[in-house]
Amino acid sequence: MVARDAGRYKEARWLRMRDAVLRRDGFLCQECRRRGAGTPADTVHHIDPDAAGEFLSPLNMIALCAACHNKMHARATDALTETGKRWLRRKQFGKIKNIF
Ligand SMILES: [Zn+2]
Repeated sequence: MVARDAGRYKEARWLRMRDAVLRRDGFLCQECRRRGAGTPADTVHHIDPDAAGEFLSPLNMIALCAACHNKMHARATDALTETGKRWLRRKQFGKIKNIF
């Protein structure tokens, strides 16, 4: 459960990677961008929240606005929604850009 280990979100290496992913994604929400909207991103989502060893992988991260991040996780269970699973499939097909 990498995404739920709250202490990791305070570590400098996470904050650095988070900033790098926001830069990669032009500081815009990538879900809104699919619909042609330029919404500022204020969070970075783990596409596969449970992927072992991918907490710091940019290939497992996308920039989102808060509203879209809420649409990725089911409120009651925190499981990925259908929208979240669409990003998981994109990741599995190698569609997420690296940062280097
Ligand atoms: Zn959005």
